[in-house]
Amino acid sequence: MINCDWCNLSDEARRFQLYESKSWSVFLSDEQDYIGRCILVLKRHCHSLSELTTDEWDELRDLIGKVEACLKAVLGAALCNWSCLMNSFYKEQAPDPHLHIHVRPRYDKPVALNGSTYIDREFGHHYALHKRAEIPVKDKEEVFRQLKEWLNR
Ligand SMILES: [Zn+2]
Repeated sequence: MINCDWCNLSDEARRFQLYESKSWSVFLSDEQDYIGRCILVLKRHCHSLSELTTDEWDELRDLIGKVEACLKAVLGAALCNWSCLMNSFYKEQAPDPHLHIHVRPRYDKPVALNGSTYIDREFGHHYALHKRAEIPVKDKEEVFRQLKEWLNR
């Protein structure tokens, strides 16, 4: 799709690609409100989960398992919150969403990374909607390096 940001990802977005399978790409999210937050993007332009092919579903199931295992092993996540929302696309007159899925790792203990400490103060509750999402560049680079290494080992 010519006008779709997700079909035409910037080099900056691609710089944080953690993993790719035949139909899906995994990126470290720009928003790190929960350290290690990632996004799974379908490589083809598709509007919703209900339009996935059987092969894409099979791959997604494997990928959810892999990403969840990674966030638990590398960062000590207790669980993951998965969400497929697509709401922002529907602010447009003619919505043309591109399927993507957010994963927010949730933590019952502080996460130590690179000398910083990340605390999930809402643990046991819905993820916060307006939490500070910026982290130091060096922490983003480090979490990217560790997750990418685990996912591609
Ligand atoms: Zn697209």
